[in-house]
Amino acid sequence: MLDHWLLLDTGFCRVSAHHVMRGAPHQPLDCHALVALLHHPQHGWIMWDSGYAPRMLTATQRLPYRLYRLATPLHIRPEQSVIAQLPALGIDPQAIRTIIISHFHADHLAGLHDFPHARLIASAPAYAHVQGRRGLAALRRGFIPALLPPDFAERVRLLPPADFRGPPLPALGATCDLFGDGVLQAVWLPGHARGQIGLLAHTHTGAILLAADGCWTTEAYRELRPPHRLTHLFVDDPVAVGQTLHALHHFAHARPAVRIIPTHCPAMFAYVTRPAAPVLAP
Ligand SMILES: [Zn+2]
Ligand SMILES: [Zn+2]
Repeated sequence: MLDHWLLLDTGFCRVSAHHVMRGAPHQPLDCHALVALLHHPQHGWIMWDSGYAPRMLTATQRLPYRLYRLATPLHIRPEQSVIAQLPALGIDPQAIRTIIISHFHADHLAGLHDFPHARLIASAPAYAHVQGRRGLAALRRGFIPALLPPDFAERVRLLPPADFRGPPLPALGATCDLFGDGVLQAVWLPGHARGQIGLLAHTHTGAILLAADGCWTTEAYRELRPPHRLTHLFVDDPVAVGQTLHALHHFAHARPAVRIIPTHCPAMFAYVTRPAAPVLAP
């Protein structure tokens, strides 16, 4: 199992709570982009997504990518990028050996350039959906090509659907055992973005399910409150968004001990830890 894990905040965008979840008030909501750092005793430090980084601001300076920033106003400080936070955690950036990408939306990709030596893992259908897209065709998929390292294709291990033949999770279905030891199991979370994956991780403090944008808040899956219809404009498959929300709801009932961590959930942001002392000497 993982012998250490923590969440980092990399900044936020301001949206309307009313759009994030049915029945929520017309109030601004700060959607923080969280990154998980996972330490595997054999495979070292693994990052779940790469969050925001200052290059997100330069990458969205010009049209059409500026539309991204206009739709979701960004609040990113340089010291919030993962690479800037690692020294205080006592983690050498070179020690981040693997980055798992849940999906190719810009708020999950912007930190990738900071880890030129990490190997990458992503879902094959997710990459196929954005590969080679530019301009509006990219933006419609929430994808900003400049955020992808130029040697991405050489460093990535793409997970084809055929690799998802591990033991199924309740309601969520088949899993892909990333290292063959049962510690990290990828699972499909379709709807929000083509080929999106989540990650069930077995840690020393119990199991966690990193749910990416399979849902946006804890209340959403607990109380079955889907996002506003307006969000249908930029999700891959609105029907599948609802099905994934139901699947997470049923999974939570079947496995109440698993802590579900949606990337942008304000309640999970409250769990972000910033220990002053080094967390581990890997
Ligand atoms: Zn997304
Ligand atoms: Zn996101």
